[in-house]
Amino acid sequence: MRRSNITAIRRRLAATTPGVWKTGDRFGSGTLGSHAVVLSGNLPPLELQPDRNGRNDAAFIAHAHQDVAVLLAELETALAIIDDLVDPDPCWYDHGGKCQAHGQASDERCAHARAQEFLGRHAKGNPSEGNAGR
Ligand SMILES: [Zn+2]
Repeated sequence: MRRSNITAIRRRLAATTPGVWKTGDRFGSGTLGSHAVVLSGNLPPLELQPDRNGRNDAAFIAHAHQDVAVLLAELETALAIIDDLVDPDPCWYDHGGKCQAHGQASDERCAHARAQEFLGRHAKGNPSEGNAGR
């Protein structure tokens, strides 16, 4: 996933109805069915099919607001950790295709090379950051 996609996800999250979205909870004087979602106390519940899929969809929607925020925060933490761990020195490969700079032990590309590419895709201020994903 490119930084622009993450930026678009963050923008969509910020534009959602604020607050805690609910399903299967007390709502006003009644109880909200587990197949319905409330995004705001000012709006009627979003009713889904009252079967298992509808209840699962309602749970997914109701938790998406918080879950996406948690995932974005965790991604930012992971990016910072990778940035601290990655060796910025370039890879150099032997004739067997193994990176000698980082002691590559597997047949995959060097983890440092992949980490540098990953950070490059997700670096803040990446020129591809823009309106993608809207
Ligand atoms: Zn390497």
